[in-house]
Amino acid sequence: MTARDLHLFEAGARLQMNESIELTIQSLQAYAGQHEHLVIAWSGGKDSTATLTLICWLIETGRIARPKRMTVLYADTRQELPPLAIAAQEIMDQLAERGIDFRVVRAALDKRFLVYILGRGVPPPNNNTLRWCTRQIKVDPMAEAIAETLGDGTALTITGVRQGESAIRDRRIEMSCGKDGAECGQGWYQQILPESKGIRGRIATLAPILHWRVCHVWEWLRHWAPQDEFGGWPTEIIADAYGGDEAEEINARTGCIGCPLAQEEKALDSILAIPKWAHLAPLHELKPIYRWLREPAQRLRKSGIERLKNGEIGKNPQRMGPLTFKARLTALDQILNIQRRVNAEGNRGMFELIDAEEEARIRQLISNETWPDGWDGTEPTADTWLPVTIYGNGAEQHDLFGLEEPA
Ligand code: SF4
Repeated sequence: MTARDLHLFEAGARLQMNESIELTIQSLQAYAGQHEHLVIAWSGGKDSTATLTLICWLIETGRIARPKRMTVLYADTRQELPPLAIAAQEIMDQLAERGIDFRVVRAALDKRFLVYILGRGVPPPNNNTLRWCTRQIKVDPMAEAIAETLGDGTALTITGVRQGESAIRDRRIEMSCGKDGAECGQGWYQQILPESKGIRGRIATLAPILHWRVCHVWEWLRHWAPQDEFGGWPTEIIADAYGGDEAEEINARTGCIGCPLAQEEKALDSILAIPKWAHLAPLHELKPIYRWLREPAQRLRKSGIERLKNGEIGKNPQRMGPLTFKARLTALDQILNIQRRVNAEGNRGMFELIDAEEEARIRQLISNETWPDGWDGTEPTADTWLPVTIYGNGAEQHDLFGLEEPA
């Protein structure tokens, strides 16, 4: 059966598991052989884990040729849900046993999610103005790791991007996908990495499970991959983390715990419904902490007067900015407290949202009075009354009672 034949399924017939795997094999046979080096960009989520374990099985059973060189890069944001982090660790143990080359990819210490927020004072991201996180904790570290892995050569990067039946219906089976169609951190490899500095033009990207339906992913993770004949991978736990067999496509998204950009925490809720993970309940307190940190009382604000005097009026001259030291220390205590409670009740090994090195660095940055660029801590807090409102066009609105004039 060829990729072209499968258009016959447009009428609505389902691709069966074996057919999905067959198409995956065809795509790998067509493209992997053209490259000496295979780089698997693995996020630890369901689609990229299915891709990784499937490729290992296909190589081990001779269904696809063994590449001359293969490297697995695991993107560790330090904010993963514990079951996913544990599963990733177990899979890495197995990669090591099989002699497969892998690397854990993390942002530099000062750029990690909680160090950046609590140490440097940058507010948690939001949907509108300040979405700094995806690039900083996922895309850039992965791009750098790929560039290092490549050396002077070229490679085929494998991603877990998946579009299900629409991939076939829309005739995108040639793997020309460029859409960011899944959870944060899943579509980005394909869209952004090829453009990244240092690797532009030197990697090709292939999404070999592009056409898989989500039920095939569950089927593989829960029923096939754990069996010895398919590699004996500890992947059931990943299916659990997404709600398992019952998970709907819309429900099947994960990202950082307490992601400030997500409305709900469906993955965490799914996990908490499983008795052995009930001790993770305090993690529900993270999102309110991130919300609290974005409130005016916890942040500084530009008065705008200096900029007005210098003729530097921009879009938002009285914009809100970084977090006060008091707010950072309060949030640090609260998050460490959540961590302590999870670990006290869990008794399943240490779970560290903030590890000792990160905590020490956060405290050091605070005691060094570190502010983001363009701020020095002399600005008023954002809940302070300002006697004059300055608009983006430079217009001023003075307090009607004239208590104070701008200097
Ligand atoms: S999951 Fe949320 S917090 Fe994490 S990188 Fe994505 S958008 Fe940012």
